[in-house]
Amino acid sequence: MKTIIKNGTLVTAADTFTADLLIDGERIAQIADHLSSDDAQTVNAAGQYVLPGGVDVHTHLHLPGPAAVPSDDFYTGHKAAAFGGTTFTIDFAMPARGECLHDAVARWLAAAQGRAVVDYGLHVGIVGLDGDVLDELPALAAEGLPSLKLLMAYKGIVQVDDDTLFKTMLKAAEHGMLTMVHAENGDAIHELRRRAVAAGRLAQEWHARTRPAWLEGEATLRAIALAAAAGAPVYIVHVTSAPAVDQIAYGRARGLSVMGETCVQYFFFTEDDLRRPDGAKWVCSPPFRSAADQAALWGAVRGDTLQVISTDHCPFLFDGARAIQYEGRPYQAPGKELGHADFTKTPNGVPGLGDRMPVLWTFGVGAGRLSLNRFVEVCCTNPAKIFGLYPKKGTLAVGADADIVIWDPRKTRVVDAANSHQRVDYNLYEGWTLTGLPDRVYRRGELIVDGDRWLGRPGDGRFTPRAAHAPVL
Ligand code: MN
Ligand code: MN
Repeated sequence: MKTIIKNGTLVTAADTFTADLLIDGERIAQIADHLSSDDAQTVNAAGQYVLPGGVDVHTHLHLPGPAAVPSDDFYTGHKAAAFGGTTFTIDFAMPARGECLHDAVARWLAAAQGRAVVDYGLHVGIVGLDGDVLDELPALAAEGLPSLKLLMAYKGIVQVDDDTLFKTMLKAAEHGMLTMVHAENGDAIHELRRRAVAAGRLAQEWHARTRPAWLEGEATLRAIALAAAAGAPVYIVHVTSAPAVDQIAYGRARGLSVMGETCVQYFFFTEDDLRRPDGAKWVCSPPFRSAADQAALWGAVRGDTLQVISTDHCPFLFDGARAIQYEGRPYQAPGKELGHADFTKTPNGVPGLGDRMPVLWTFGVGAGRLSLNRFVEVCCTNPAKIFGLYPKKGTLAVGADADIVIWDPRKTRVVDAANSHQRVDYNLYEGWTLTGLPDRVYRRGELIVDGDRWLGRPGDGRFTPRAAHAPVL
């Protein structure tokens, strides 16, 4: 099956140009002026942009938990992703304490099996060094799982100490693997939370007030310093604050192999949002900060202190007592109401997988904060490069997978939870008007979104092995 996308404006991280693009089977076969073919279907993209499919390297579409689990799975999450222009996701296979890493990976692959619609990869979590955990790393790298995730917060649950982090970095570096770090000082947060609870400070705003930005800045510098001593690259996930941005800039200015991402929502909300009556909707970690931190994040993305914008998509129903309808079927699960009387019981996480690119288009590109090329670079190309997917994913090039979005800059939509395709009862951007949205989305040459029509099928998304020794940007 061949498709020619004619007369569109192609955008890559480096260039913007008008050309035709030929899809042959699953790949991009040709990019040139005036393409024609007798056996190809033709799509006129005049007045529209042709972009590589988005790559979201930070999602939680499967995350078994004691009280609540994220409300999207690989099917519903991928459907929302595709409608928002994202055609690749990387989830986190998190082992239980003492579980071998390959068993955790098997559990995540089983969750994606028969459900995934777009292609996907997995990062592998490390929560301790029991047993032979570090001995599994070479095999994981060879199997297309070359990125590891450790958390310096969530004491007593998944937090690792510096010994675990440093030994992992040393081993990862030997095998060309990338260590990703959730950088917050979990010991200090644990004590601040304990004191808040003891003082009866249980409202949602205390979620933010017990996780101050300096504890993110401290942990960020500690992770960078350990990585430097280990001779390992490090990638700081979900950077939210000026102190953390400053530490990454400090490391990069000294030639260290440190990279970072922020998530789309951190540009738009502050600690004040937790004081709303429905503030639990904004509970995520690290928490929302201040307007000054938002400004630091825009500067960091424009200036290449941060290379990636992802989502940390991890939605929970706001009101888990009420079922919602998704594709005509009821869905109900415990959610944010668990923390109604005590912020420490509010599930941490927000939706955003489908919102990321349209929101950044409208308020980034449209508002003059990001160039078109930088938008493609931070949403598509850099994540593909850093995580070993490039040039198969993340760009428009001959031979690349035909993961393509035809983007209509005039299409508008008022956001509401029901039209977001995420399986959750709220949207952070409820009521906001977006201008510029995907019109057609192809996954490996197959049309899966056609205007408002959904053509994707559960199970068609493939696990995609990624290469070790990826570049440090
Ligand atoms: Mn995290
Ligand atoms: Mn996360």
